[in-house]
Amino acid sequence: MKQIRVFRIFLAIIFFVASVAYLCIGPGVHPMAVVSEKTQIILSSITVTIGATIVWLLITFLFGRIYCATVCPIGSITDFFARLGRKLPRRKKTFSYRRRNHIGLMVLIAYILSLLLGIYTVAFIFGPWNAMRNIAAIVNTDAIKVTWMALGIGAGTGIAVGVLTLLLLIVWSLISGRDFCNTVCPIGYALGAVCYNALMHIEIDPDRCTYCGKCEDVCSAHCIKLTDRYVDDSRCLRCFDCLAICDDDAIHFQINRNIPLTPLFRKRSQAR
Ligand code: SF4
Ligand code: SF4
Ligand code: SF4
Repeated sequence: MKQIRVFRIFLAIIFFVASVAYLCIGPGVHPMAVVSEKTQIILSSITVTIGATIVWLLITFLFGRIYCATVCPIGSITDFFARLGRKLPRRKKTFSYRRRNHIGLMVLIAYILSLLLGIYTVAFIFGPWNAMRNIAAIVNTDAIKVTWMALGIGAGTGIAVGVLTLLLLIVWSLISGRDFCNTVCPIGYALGAVCYNALMHIEIDPDRCTYCGKCEDVCSAHCIKLTDRYVDDSRCLRCFDCLAICDDDAIHFQINRNIPLTPLFRKRSQAR
């Protein structure tokens, strides 16, 4: 089961490199570059990406936010810097559980309203693929040809937004893990709503867990609440780091819910 993390990182690297190649060099560079673009969820171009979006909704309902774990290039950037951030000296634990907030819902509503009203600039800033376009525009302005430049706005605006986005992602992820994904991203919020009770989920086995705290400490999505042996599936970004770090084989990606053998722990693990 722990190899799933290696496979996930492998896929994320492939898709990230392909996305960067698509945006910085062009679709003709390699067939995988086109695949990386065709598999994105882009709400501002929903008529073109409707097929990919439906497939991802189904995958998310069954397996959780695999899109965030593998295909989304902004997710790969936040993941990379969150990992680097773990190495920073800190006064307390690296990461710990945080309650779910609904800022993402407000961003999602604002995002959809703006699309309905034809204010595409909101989508060009907050949509993950469009955000990646802005970052790529630092190297190649062709990346924003179909967004800012198509609206008649100069490439400088897209590049400035790209620089600010990249700086925000780096600093925020270094300090606070993948908060961008679970606070600001409208796609992330929508996917989280779909997989609140995903068929396959991360589950702690209370009869094996020694309460060492390593999984909560490594979870950059802040979604493991060890005191209740609870994982908030809507915010889990399927990085599988918790599975890899557990020495007691007490946390799994599975279909079943655990019923603890030890009666003392029953209330805790069922406190959802
Ligand atoms: S939450 Fe948004 S930015 Fe983060 S990985 Fe998912 S889609 Fe990408
Ligand atoms: S790492 Fe494993 S043993 Fe430690 S708290 Fe998490 S599930 Fe329990
Ligand atoms: S619960 Fe595990 S798989 Fe989910 S985000 Fe946290 S560390 Fe990653």
